[in-house]
Amino acid sequence: MTPIIVLIGRTNVGKSTIFNCLTKSRNALVANHPGVTRDRQYGYCKSEDLNRKIILIDTAGLDIKSNEIEKKAYEQTLIAIQESHLILFIVDARDGLMPQEFEISKKIRQYEKKTILIINKIDGINNTFNINEFYSLGFNKIHKVSASHNQGINTLIIKYFIPWINLEFKKEKKTILNYQYSEIKKLETKIAFIGRPNVGKSTLINSILKEERMITCNTPGTTLDSVSTPIKYNNNNYILIDTAGASRKNKNLSIIEKFSIIKTLQSIEKSNVILLMIDACNKICSQDLLLSDFILKSGKGIVIVINKWDRLNYSEKKQFKETIKNKLKFLFFSRIHFISALYQKGIFQLFKSIHEAHEDSKKTISTSILTKTMHMAIKKHQPPIIKGRRIKLKYAHLGSSHPPKIIIHGNQVTYLSSPYKRYLINFFYNSLQIKGTPIKIQFKDNI
Ligand code: GDP
Ligand code: GDP
Repeated sequence: MTPIIVLIGRTNVGKSTIFNCLTKSRNALVANHPGVTRDRQYGYCKSEDLNRKIILIDTAGLDIKSNEIEKKAYEQTLIAIQESHLILFIVDARDGLMPQEFEISKKIRQYEKKTILIINKIDGINNTFNINEFYSLGFNKIHKVSASHNQGINTLIIKYFIPWINLEFKKEKKTILNYQYSEIKKLETKIAFIGRPNVGKSTLINSILKEERMITCNTPGTTLDSVSTPIKYNNNNYILIDTAGASRKNKNLSIIEKFSIIKTLQSIEKSNVILLMIDACNKICSQDLLLSDFILKSGKGIVIVINKWDRLNYSEKKQFKETIKNKLKFLFFSRIHFISALYQKGIFQLFKSIHEAHEDSKKTISTSILTKTMHMAIKKHQPPIIKGRRIKLKYAHLGSSHPPKIIIHGNQVTYLSSPYKRYLINFFYNSLQIKGTPIKIQFKDNI
């Protein structure tokens, strides 16, 4: 299981700033995809001192719940707390202790989760009175940071995150390794069905299981968080991972409970390929985009599935295809399928793309092919001249797989512009015919 940390606290205490420091991102999502509200972000904690993935969730404050949308956000935050493994409760040293913070503390305590109280914005604070006030909240793990100055963040990781992971996730790590080993032997592709409630996840799973060409291997294995069903198709082994709540039709669950962000993120972690499902009858919303962005960061294989295609007429279909092209531009490399899960149209064609995405994500590409491809790209488009010298790209090799990471060595590579990097990466996608898996590129200066 991937450890999950949730950030909570009032609005403006610095949750997003801390999130950005820990994930080493600069609101990339907000900048890149217009239409995404800033209410929640998901990402991976990045640090050279960490040797495993940690998922971070930035929540929409715990102080507002006046209108319907805010109430939903509040409910989601509570679910995030419930399902997370560690809470970072953020407070603001400039404001000092606020009355709502007693309420928030009370709420957190109900969940009996490990909590670290983070006192943020300690930069330039001479008066320790404000800081001392926070001790009355009664948390025994307290850490002071200045997120905007990137102070105290790495200590947080070293002093708190690492010992916690070593203590609580160590034993499990061993079993995960064994599990992965047997998985490799069986060469299965684990598929996660991801999408908003009612997009048709369970209908699709049921249709797949009904498809005559599929062989259901045995009874589904049920774990607390998800149901996984092994199947065989075209001599390949697959495991369908169904996030709990999607197929187990529990009528008592509210929509918000059905769509558990954390279970969704855990399913993504467990899979090799993600079927990102989108409802053709609905607009693509910020929730779809936030999930898509996380899926991209996860580096897993992706197949985009537009469901309920039966409900659109000719011109609506044309329009939807345009919208998809625009809104999901950042997933340009993945295959898109237009299906009807209910009427079982286009179902088994999905498996070709799933197979391809998984194969591409573990592809091994030789140094000579990568270097040759890179030189072809350079020949078409030279890198720019900096300080009288042309940026020189010398050779490329594969750093790792899942997803493929290409490392390019050269001189003055730090001066390469983003458009040129994008040009190179697109050239690799096209020349190597990579579909369904993101590829990453890293530049190294040979001094
Ligand atoms: P959120 O609403 O809790 O996500 O808060 P934000 O991360 O958006 O931060 C709110 C404001 O506080 C922004 O203007 C930040 O620049 C500022 N801020 C965040 N961290 C610090 C800090 O460590 N010191 C100071 N002085 N300001 C900070
Ligand atoms: P889930 O919450 O993502 O598991 O969604 P469900 O599989 O429960 O589907 C939600 C609703 O959409 C149900 O009423 C389904 O019958 C309907 N539905 C699912 N797939 C399709 C489809 O391809 N076409 C149409 N017209 N309806 C569909």
